Amino acid sequence: MDNVCKRCLLFEAGEKVTYSQIMAYLETVPVDEKVDDVLYRNRLSFCRECDNLLSGMCIKCGCYVEVRTALKNKSCPDFNNPKW
Ligand code: SF4
Repeated sequence: MDNVCKRCLLFEAGEKVTYSQIMAYLETVPVDEKVDDVLYRNRLSFCRECDNLLSGMCIKCGCYVEVRTALKNKSCPDFNNPKW
């Protein structure tokens, strides 16, 4: 069985191509639709400790957390226990 980096963000998991694509996508999102860097890092810190994180993806919604956490109009999709 392959090693699965359960609690890693894509950036940390060595998924360089996917991570680069995500960063390229975020560059296309207008600045006023994104959270500031402090909030972005804060949100990611919750994901990093969350049991729902699997190889950079949230298993509650299927989003890459490095995208979801960057967007102002998104929230944590764990409705029973939202972390951010
Ligand atoms: S449930 Fe919330 S905190 Fe957990 S990985 Fe998903 S978005 Fe992040």
